[in-house]
Amino acid sequence: MQKARENRMRFENDLKYTLNGQLFLEYQPQLDFKTGEISSMEALIRWRHPEKGLISPFEFIPIAEESGLIVPIGNWVLETACRDTVALQQKLGKRIRVAVNLSIGQIYQEDLVDEVERILNKTGITPSDLQLEVTESMSDNVQQIIPVLQKLKALGVTIAMDDFGTGYSSLSYLKEFPIDVLKIDRSFVWSILDSEKDEALVRMIISIAKHLGLQVVAEGIENMAQLRYLNEHECDKIQGYYISKPITLEQLESKFSELQSFVDVQMKQLRVPR
Ligand code: C2E
Ligand code: MG
Ligand code: MG
Repeated sequence: MQKARENRMRFENDLKYTLNGQLFLEYQPQLDFKTGEISSMEALIRWRHPEKGLISPFEFIPIAEESGLIVPIGNWVLETACRDTVALQQKLGKRIRVAVNLSIGQIYQEDLVDEVERILNKTGITPSDLQLEVTESMSDNVQQIIPVLQKLKALGVTIAMDDFGTGYSSLSYLKEFPIDVLKIDRSFVWSILDSEKDEALVRMIISIAKHLGLQVVAEGIENMAQLRYLNEHECDKIQGYYISKPITLEQLESKFSELQSFVDVQMKQLRVPR
């Protein structure tokens, strides 16, 4: 236990120092079925540790949460993602939106709304081009969270519920939370074609979203069969390795037209009557 505690302290300490330089963002493009275009992306944080190499956010986000470091890290992510998005929009001459993950610790941060407003002003991003992703775990404290989400929406940003279906999903949260988008967790998408139950759940989530007037985004699309299924079942957007893994801003910039051409070919195949 002593050893584990020491390791964790060291990890936390390392994380404190990463704020200067070892953290970076990757972006995963999202395909909009309606337009057939890559019109948005999700920002995903990475930590390149000098000795341990690349560390997954699954490993360090919980530590950042517990130590409170999530606040400065989260602010850095927000500002960097907005700045990068504006730069990408200018480079490509087209509107690209960005989705940024929010941790529960950030929602409890007293000045989150002011911080988001400051970042919108500082980076000049159009507020509706920023989407904030929250998770169902936030439903633990609905009364505290709803006013924060409402204030964020009043700034013009949109809100997505990430990993929908994996937490303590309750239909009443869907009614109470002021959200715009439901993201279907990739664990359901993986087996839509092999598991009747997962298939039924995905269809149900899409149907709930449509009835509530929400957009649906599916994540974790790894093959054409999944892409076809989600298009046929009127999912609005998808992201997944089939289109692209998360990549750096520079890679996205230089590969953008190649990625769009790949998507064009897929869309043509989807539209071929079968
Ligand atoms: P998430 O927000 O649900 O992000 C989607 C995760 O799915 C990403 O993992 C992405 O790389 C992965 N993914 C996307 N497409 C595919 C696919 O086709 N196949 C497979 N196998 N995986 C796919 P990643 O980047 O490791 O991030 C993991 C989680 O860490 C995220 O899940 C999110 O909850 C959290 N996270 C990432 N960046 C941030 C951040 O800046 N702030 C906070 N608070 N959390 C973050
Ligand atoms: Mg996410
Ligand atoms: Mg997710």
